[in-house]
Amino acid sequence: MKLVTQFLFCYFLIIVLVLHSSWPATSHEVDDEREFDYSEKSGKGPSQWGEIHPEWSLCKYGSMQSPIDLLNERVEIVSHLGRLNRNYRPSNATLKNRGHDMMLEWEGGAGNIKINGTQYVLMQIHWHSPTEHAINGRKFDLEMHMVHESSDGKVAVVGIMYTIGRPDSFLLSIRHLLSAVAGNRENVTAVGIVDPKNIKIGSRKYYRYIGSLTTPPCNENVVWTIVRKVRTVTREQIRLLRGAVHDDSETNARPLQPINRRSVYLYIPSHEVED
Ligand SMILES: [Zn+2]
Repeated sequence: MKLVTQFLFCYFLIIVLVLHSSWPATSHEVDDEREFDYSEKSGKGPSQWGEIHPEWSLCKYGSMQSPIDLLNERVEIVSHLGRLNRNYRPSNATLKNRGHDMMLEWEGGAGNIKINGTQYVLMQIHWHSPTEHAINGRKFDLEMHMVHESSDGKVAVVGIMYTIGRPDSFLLSIRHLLSAVAGNRENVTAVGIVDPKNIKIGSRKYYRYIGSLTTPPCNENVVWTIVRKVRTVTREQIRLLRGAVHDDSETNARPLQPINRRSVYLYIPSHEVED
């Protein structure tokens, strides 16, 4: 009888050891996005991103990092950059809850924009709250990033900022899709055709500067376009998007980064300069 008990105990011990030793590896693989977060108390917050992996060192040592404060006195008003030329088309999309944000991704892209003669394909959009960029030191409630890629791997991001007010019509149109995946980690849901032309910009004026991805690996030489007009969104719409943020921090916005010697432009069409 004693032998049986000992055998059972050993058997139990082996099972515990096997389960325990395999657990960290597995969670490491599926939890990629949680290798970093937005809490300075966690040890993997924004000020530590550059030390988590050697490939993420630009987050710490880069000199052209994003987001930045778009300070009026630093901004050079220009009229030569040209209107934002958007050639988007409706395409099949999936909604992915990445744990620190919600991402809508188009399979094979959803049309393109052209900047300085280079064509960038719209790959995905995602949201940060509060905004990552600031205008004259002021942050707003929500920032959407439309991430575009050229055929040779260059990145252009169009950012749209929102403050609390009337509902945003695009978020309204995908509300049912968002509630289906909110609060569900690692959830990837095919959501059918989504038309990025329904994303309203409402202004021809935009800021332009060269910066970086605002999440690791913080790659630089990203062409940033921040729409000048701050649009509106409801608290409920932000709450729906924030349902995806599971880290201890309530936000998913990287702190402002030094501008250093970079130029920041504000494009205003020549006939509107007097506005
Ligand atoms: Zn972003």
